[in-house]
Amino acid sequence: MARRFFVGGNFKMNGTKESIKAIVNNLNEAKTDGDVEVVIAPPALYLEVARDEVDKFNIKVAAQNVSDKPNGAYTGEISVAQLKDIDIRWTILGHSERRTLLGETDEVVAAKTKAAVDGGISVIWCCGESLQEREAGNTVAVVEKQLAALAAKLSGEDDWKKIVIAYEPIWAIGTGKVATVQQAQEVHEAIRKWLAKNVSEKVADETRILYGGSVNGKNCKDLAKEKDIDGFLVGGASLKPEFVDIINSNL
Ligand code: PGA
Repeated sequence: MARRFFVGGNFKMNGTKESIKAIVNNLNEAKTDGDVEVVIAPPALYLEVARDEVDKFNIKVAAQNVSDKPNGAYTGEISVAQLKDIDIRWTILGHSERRTLLGETDEVVAAKTKAAVDGGISVIWCCGESLQEREAGNTVAVVEKQLAALAAKLSGEDDWKKIVIAYEPIWAIGTGKVATVQQAQEVHEAIRKWLAKNVSEKVADETRILYGGSVNGKNCKDLAKEKDIDGFLVGGASLKPEFVDIINSNL
């Protein structure tokens, strides 16, 4: 089946109320491909600002993280129910910055992902290897281990319908060192094969696999041509006008 092209914008800990309104307004006014699913993830305290500003049906707003706990004494955390309370239906989970800087393990990320999909929140689930792991020839093994932890928690095809996978090699994030088209396609293909073997052919066929790591307005077009690259998760460039070119990279 044809997988709908997907472009996520991860604003990370950047922006102000005014700059986020300006970014969303730019997206509202720009000529963007209406067939592309666009999901932008501002810092949590600006979720409602972004939500109120969006006026295109194909642009949705995501959190950058969510707790796997329903409520209670978890200082600084946000629950799935709270996201839904303000009408947010997406979250990023397992970004490498949270895995490496905040110690989120494969299992923690998988538990959060399960809590989100059970609560009706769709997830941009991130995976990817470090430079050391790539140089040691372990890229696919690392990604497969991350996938296995996720698959162990998800219950079936309905859960997988709420997942978009983002392959983000850590060495490519924020470094300007984008993966080559071949490097990205190779891992995307391996992810799809893993899904076919360990989950189902249907899930392998239907799940969008995004590439993330130094995507910009220039390199996006070649990457978008690859058969297993179904879109992008964009950090730095999602804050800039060139984000529009990335959304339109598949035109
Ligand atoms: P980058 O970040 O586009 O700035 O490399 C990507 C990401 O962290 O999702």
